[in-house]
Amino acid sequence: MQDIIIGSHVSFNKNTQLLGSVKEALSYGANTFMFYTGAPQNTSRSVIDQNLTKEADLLMKKSGIDKLAVIIHAPYIINLANQNNEFAIDFLKAEIKRVESLGFNKLVLHPGSHVGQGRVIGINNIIDGLNKVINAETKVIVCLETMAGKGTELGINFEEVKTIIDGVNYKDKIGVCLDTCHLNDAGYDIGHFDKIIEDFSNIIGLEKLYCVHINDSKNELNAHKDRHENFGFGTIGFDNLIKVIYHSKLKGIPKILETPYITKDDTSKERLYPPYKFEIEAIRNKKINDHLIEDIRNYYSLS
Ligand code: FE
Ligand code: FE
Ligand code: ZN
Repeated sequence: MQDIIIGSHVSFNKNTQLLGSVKEALSYGANTFMFYTGAPQNTSRSVIDQNLTKEADLLMKKSGIDKLAVIIHAPYIINLANQNNEFAIDFLKAEIKRVESLGFNKLVLHPGSHVGQGRVIGINNIIDGLNKVINAETKVIVCLETMAGKGTELGINFEEVKTIIDGVNYKDKIGVCLDTCHLNDAGYDIGHFDKIIEDFSNIIGLEKLYCVHINDSKNELNAHKDRHENFGFGTIGFDNLIKVIYHSKLKGIPKILETPYITKDDTSKERLYPPYKFEIEAIRNKKINDHLIEDIRNYYSLS
């Protein structure tokens, strides 16, 4: 019997803040969660309300959610690889303070995109940026997410991520987040996950792995696309993803779903309904739900 740590991306809005995020996670039957401290695609952030944080802490304690398993995701427009990365550096410093003041310690960051300057310069900019952000007092572990290789993304294989880690001064404050969709799209076959873990152990070291994003992919192996698909409905498939979640070497590492919301009906484009309650249920049962989409639509259109 293995107790998994499973959750999903949840919202964090300025009125309910962390308390709202915890309630949302619990509504999915999750025992962890991940959130952006504001909208993922912009950098406007509201002041943290410590009363809501205290209430959220009590609720987490009562529900058995370990704060050390909770993940914060930095906004994805932050680009340390850019030549002019002062804004990204300032934002990240403030974001680390927010994470600390909420009482968490893991921040996932997309390494960045070189936007035409080339991989070497881009990676050096990331290293310089991280060394300006992370210092002896930093209490947060910045987890670099491995990327799909869309556009000019950096950190698309274990060697590139290792190069970044090697350049960072405070190595105990840097970690890695794997994403199954990104791995697939970058050319790592999730069907041979033992081999991926072996490579990761040899190149980076398993002690650096703090989080795994669990997503199916809309695209074939090595497509360099990054389009997430619902659990079991993409090219990676249900059984391969289940093996990742229950892998003995990943025990105790939080697994976070970032699968897409479901549309109201087949003709609608608006993604309205979160799939996580039903995906987590299927994961715990280790049995694919062929009626997943219909079940989600029925559940949320009635509630
Ligand atoms: Fe991400
Ligand atoms: Fe991800
Ligand atoms: Zn992605």
